[in-house]
Amino acid sequence: MHDLAVVFDDVVKRYGEVTAVDGISLTIASGEVFGLLGPNGAGKTTSIETLAGLRRPTSGTVRVFGFDPIEQRDQVRRVVAVQPQHAALFEQQTVEELLRVWASFYRSPAGVDSVIRRLGLGDSRRVRVAKLSGGQRQRLLVGTALISRPRLLVLDEPSTGLDPNARQDLWDAIRAHRDDGGTVLLSTHSMEEAEQLCDRVGIMHQGKIVACGMPAELVSRFAPEQELHFTVSADRDLEGLRARADVIELTAHARDGQTRVRLRTADPDALFPVLTGALGARQIQTRDAGLETVFRRVTGRAFADFDEVTS
Ligand code: ATP
Repeated sequence: MHDLAVVFDDVVKRYGEVTAVDGISLTIASGEVFGLLGPNGAGKTTSIETLAGLRRPTSGTVRVFGFDPIEQRDQVRRVVAVQPQHAALFEQQTVEELLRVWASFYRSPAGVDSVIRRLGLGDSRRVRVAKLSGGQRQRLLVGTALISRPRLLVLDEPSTGLDPNARQDLWDAIRAHRDDGGTVLLSTHSMEEAEQLCDRVGIMHQGKIVACGMPAELVSRFAPEQELHFTVSADRDLEGLRARADVIELTAHARDGQTRVRLRTADPDALFPVLTGALGARQIQTRDAGLETVFRRVTGRAFADFDEVTS
């Protein structure tokens, strides 16, 4: 068994003048759920395509369980299943028929019933593909990837368009795949999905990996401060609070005689007496800054919303 499911070593992919992937190095261990995050155009899909053997890197090395996706395409195909963002499906077949046909392509496929159950598609089992809703079709696409019981399951934005229940089913199916010994690489724009589901995440920006690690690790490294949310009367002067050295960022929205304040600080305990004392703050809530703040910070958007509100 190969402990490393995926290795990217200084991988570059150019399309003419455009450098889509700019020297990424990354390993994904067998049995991990790894999330690739990044703004539109960051290079996530291109990276995924190189490991599926769909694109040849301009330079650098890609390995999947030790195999070269271009030179050893057949070996890679046996162990990897890729669910694309969109795919042509056989429209006149039912969900069950389609999955049975798909299963017949593989030597030891997953049970069709278990895939249907895991993805919450029981009610659509006898519905023709052409009649499925967007979210059901999306889950069926994931099902076609799960049916081969791949050692590496690759999902490109799998939860796009899913309602909260369907998304939960999808997450459960992905966790079950990992618990059965599988590895998962997924791209996502949902910070919640990354925090809830992924063992580790890599954040891409302009073709580079700008942060990589466990979600909690990234939060404590890039956004260790806490967020405080509270309400004060509109006549309270916030300038003294804003000027304090332990207030990193402060935004304020006035409405109906009240001001809703959000501030970031590394030392909430020192601020509590000030808020509850002279300022008379109410409805005080404390939150971790979270992966969203990490994302905005490492992709260069850290203070965009702050500037908009205060300028
Ligand atoms: P999204 O979140 O929007 O799906 P992404 O992170 O997956 O984005 P990619 O699709 O990998 O990003 O695109 C990275 C860059 O490469 C973009 O600038 C894109 O315009 C460019 N690109 C992607 N595919 C091609 C192609 N076939 N030919 C030329 N340029 C391409």
